[in-house]
This record gives sequence, C-alpha cells and structure tokens, in this order.
Amino acid sequence: MQITDLGRHRRIGANSLLAEIGPFRVLIDAGLDPKSVGRESTPNYDLLGDGPLDLVVLTHCHLDHLGSLPIVCRQHPEALFVTSRASQMLAHRMLRNSVNVMKRQRDELGNVDLPLYTFAEVDEVDRALVGLTYNQPRSIERNGEELTFTLHRAGHIAGAAGVSFVYKHRRIFFTGDVMFGDQATLDGADFPIESTDTLVMETTRGSKGRVPDRTRESEVERLISTISNTISRGGCALIPVFALGRMQEILQLLYNARQTGDLPVCPIYCAGLGMDIVDYFDAISRKVGGVHFRRSVLKQLKVQPPPPFKPGNSPGSKGIYVLSSGMLVEHTPSYHAAAAMLDDHANSICFVGYCDPETPGGELLAAAHNDSFLFSVPDHAAPVRAHIEQFDLSGHADRDELLQFANSLDPRAIALTHGDPEARGWFFDELLDFNPKLQVHDLLPGEEVQL
Ligand SMILES: [Zn+2]
Ligand SMILES: [Zn+2]
Repeated sequence: MQITDLGRHRRIGANSLLAEIGPFRVLIDAGLDPKSVGRESTPNYDLLGDGPLDLVVLTHCHLDHLGSLPIVCRQHPEALFVTSRASQMLAHRMLRNSVNVMKRQRDELGNVDLPLYTFAEVDEVDRALVGLTYNQPRSIERNGEELTFTLHRAGHIAGAAGVSFVYKHRRIFFTGDVMFGDQATLDGADFPIESTDTLVMETTRGSKGRVPDRTRESEVERLISTISNTISRGGCALIPVFALGRMQEILQLLYNARQTGDLPVCPIYCAGLGMDIVDYFDAISRKVGGVHFRRSVLKQLKVQPPPPFKPGNSPGSKGIYVLSSGMLVEHTPSYHAAAAMLDDHANSICFVGYCDPETPGGELLAAAHNDSFLFSVPDHAAPVRAHIEQFDLSGHADRDELLQFANSLDPRAIALTHGDPEARGWFFDELLDFNPKLQVHDLLPGEEVQL
C-alpha cells in the first residue's frame, strides 16, 4: 500500500489521506483546517493527480474530516462515497452550516475564494453519500481484483467509524478518531481485534498521559459540583461546547444530575447549531442506535434561548449557559457570553473539551487571575475574575488505551496521523519499544509512504 497525507500541516487540520491499495485509489476523509481560511484550509487535492478515485470514506462529521467533501464530490463524481448511517444523516446539516460560516467569512474578511462550495453542491454530496451499517463488509472491483471494506463503530461522536480493508488477504485498518469508553449519550468503539498487516492510527492525546485518579466519572462529578457552587453563590456558569456531540452530552449530564438532585433548579440556556443537532440525535437514537439522547431532555430541563449579551455586563438571569463554540471562537455565542461574564468573580467558565492554544479559549485557559483579557471583536478588555476551569471529558481515547489497542493487533507496519509532533513522537517511541521490528511512519504532509 502507498499512503499520502494530503493535509498541508503536520497537525490536526484538514484531514485527508490517499490510500493506494493495489489498483484501488481510496480517499479517507476530506476535511477543512479550522485554523486557516479559504483555499489554504483545504487539503492539497492537486496531489490526487488526474487518476480516478474508486472510493471515498468519511469517518465522521467533524469539519476537520468532512468540511471539503463537496470539493472532492465535484472533482471526482466517479467515486463511491460511503460513511456510517448516522454520519449520512448528519453530514448534510453540518455542511450547510459550513457554507453559512464561509459566506459570513467572505463578507468579514473580503476573501473572494469563499464560499468554497455552494448549497447545491452540498445537496450533491447528500445524493452521493451512501450510509452503511457497521460490521457489514462491502466490496468493489477493478481489473478483476477485489477490495473489501467494513466500517466499525469508533465512539468519539455519533456516527464515527474506523474502517478496515482486506486486499489479497492483507488487512489494513484506519482508526479515524476513536474513543473506547462509553459516554452518557454514546457507546464506545467496537473495534475487532484481528490480525492486521497495516494500522493507520490517530494520535490526538499522545502528548499527555491520564492524570492519576482522574476518571471520566470523577470529572463529571467535579463539573456538576463546580456548576452547582456557581449557581449557589449567585453566578452564571458558561460551558463552551462543540455543537456536534458535546452540547448533547452536557445536556444529558445536566439532566442526569437533576434526576439525582445534584444540580439545583435554575434556568438553562442553549443556542446555535447544537440545538438543531439535537433533532438529528433524537432520530439517530430511534432509527440507528448507538446514540442515547432524546429531544425530550430539552423540555425536561426547560432549555431556553439566552438573552442578548453585552460586554462587561454579567447576564441578569443567573443560570447555566451551554453555548457553542467549544473554543470560544470569535463571533460565536460562547465568545459573546464570555465577554459579558469574565470580569465577575461569581461566574465560572467551564471548558469541557480540547482548546487549541491559539484560540480565545486556549488563551483564556493560559491567562492568570486578574490578567487583562482582550476580546478583539467588540474590542473589549476585561480582567479575568471569573473562575476558569477545564474538565477532561475528551471524546478521544487516552494514549495508553490506544497504544494497547495498536499492540494487540500485532501489525507489521503503523502510520501515525492526526496529532501534533509531540503526540506522534510519544507513540513512535512507545510502539518501537514494544516491538523493535515494527515499521512506524509519521505521515508528513504531501509525502508518499510505502507500507
Ligand atoms: Zn473528530
Ligand atoms: Zn479529528
């Protein structure tokens, strides 16, 4: 097999891997880099050359995996496009949102490349994308040869899949983004342990080990008690969340805590794309399974839209604000809420997912108490007085679990992707430590690797 990382940077960005397996050309994911804008944010599709694509596999609907799929669909209408059934339901909504975001960026930044695709092209993806059931092998043929592929549940978010290929009795496995443990709204990964020739794995959490004595359960308890204490002292609790998966998970955790009496009765405010995704999760949990979330949770929690936010004015209605984006990106509801709440020490801002250090969320996490923090868009500086806390409720497997999984497949070769250099470095060393004969490759942007 030959594999080429079409991403432009050695980090989690525009994920897209070209796998050439015998005569077959397969693309795994077609993402957009959240840290770049316009053409720079896409994978380098020039590297695909003129040859046809046989198959495009979408592992899940985060935009760093899905966001440039309409471009591939436009350039390679000959390919078979597949994903899981749940992702097939979610992709259209996520891509439409992406068009709206790009149109807004075009107006704000004057970037004439934007939007990179249209609503009509998003509809085209919807027509092309085939939703497959997990664990059911499919085959394609070329020149009298056969490639069999199977999707496997990957946890992480609703619909996420790892994909295995069998070509001439050799098994190749791509983890995609994976989480082995169960979450409140989602079953964990169900990856078969089978003898594997080549493994391509994510490395997101490679640079940090698990904090001893910190479990998912204890982190949920710490989150609920932080929120409860904030409400009891008359403050607001802001939880910045990703719209897809994280917002629904947090609502379910709040609901569970209300049921057990661990969370005081108070208003709960939500806004943004995540509220729409709620309907999709409801449908997926009824029709597909693996997701445990019902729309009725909104009613039971009496979720309402937030009041308008003014920089420096803590909202009059004290309560819990579950708002996207997860990293406090400019122009999003969570960003405006933070600008309103930051200078009041009664309030708390609770981060529940990864924050890139270069985003406002990452910068706020790095700031010290009483530092002046600049919200650049309304041009508002505020002292950091609110309680800032981060909780480890990641949707990615921790590095020891992933290492153990990789070793258990006993592969001949492993390719590392989807992580910063330090994270890949840890896996590189540990994998060789366990099996010095293993071929380990750190996939570099644009480099063709023979495996
Ligand atoms: Zn993901
Ligand atoms: Zn990812």
